[in-house]
Amino acid sequence: MPHPYQLLPAALLLLPALLLADDYREEREQMVEQTIAARGVTHAATLEAMRQVPRHHFVRPEHQGRAYGDHPIPIGHGQTISQPYIVAYMTELIAPEEGHRVLEIGTGSGYQAAILAAILPEVYTMEIIPELADWGAANLRRSGYHHVAVKQGDGYYGWPEKGPFNGIVVTAAAGSIPAPLVEQLADGGRMVIPVGSPFQTQMLMLVERDGESITTRSLMPVRFVPFTRSEEP
Ligand code: SAH
Repeated sequence: MPHPYQLLPAALLLLPALLLADDYREEREQMVEQTIAARGVTHAATLEAMRQVPRHHFVRPEHQGRAYGDHPIPIGHGQTISQPYIVAYMTELIAPEEGHRVLEIGTGSGYQAAILAAILPEVYTMEIIPELADWGAANLRRSGYHHVAVKQGDGYYGWPEKGPFNGIVVTAAAGSIPAPLVEQLADGGRMVIPVGSPFQTQMLMLVERDGESITTRSLMPVRFVPFTRSEEP
């Protein structure tokens, strides 16, 4: 029988593994209770997705320790992952539910796509910067979200072959609402998009289709990175 003290080094070696196994669950719970639900998000599937998705998988290693704070974080190439509250609010706005297919424009880290994929079996996302499209896709894969299709390209044109979409989430601020995206909204579909000039306060807008009628509503002032355009379609 080993003496209990002889077991101590082994127990210490196990400690990091035990901490990792916990996987920031506590931080995620706090993030949901203290910022997201506290600020008024009530959509149950959205809250559950925010509890599940390991946000620390979607930031660079040097930012892992602050992954669960309610602030945006740089992800390289001049881009940022949005603060958790905004991700949850935008998800709640398109109210994803069974049978919906959704499109995100601006994959970035892949986090917003992962939140959608925690709710839905079919998620499409587009990213204009090739390195981020690759990194976002890798983050999604290693977190187990294999049912997200990532496409590198200018999201202005959307992904017509996969539409129409019940929900579209745009995570970069456009000067105006891209017409091709409105065309790809299904009947009853909703799009959430920040509109306004770069580096000024923009307005988060909700676009809804009811048959041929399109309504838009301004929701709240926000700050997003700019929606950029490629030279050619
Ligand atoms: N949803 C991302 C947020 C990334 S920031 C996340 O959860 O991490 C917004 C992203 O939109 C950036 O990566 C930027 O490169 C991308 N983007 C900007 N203009 C775009 C366009 N026209 N088409 C596709 N992606 C675009």
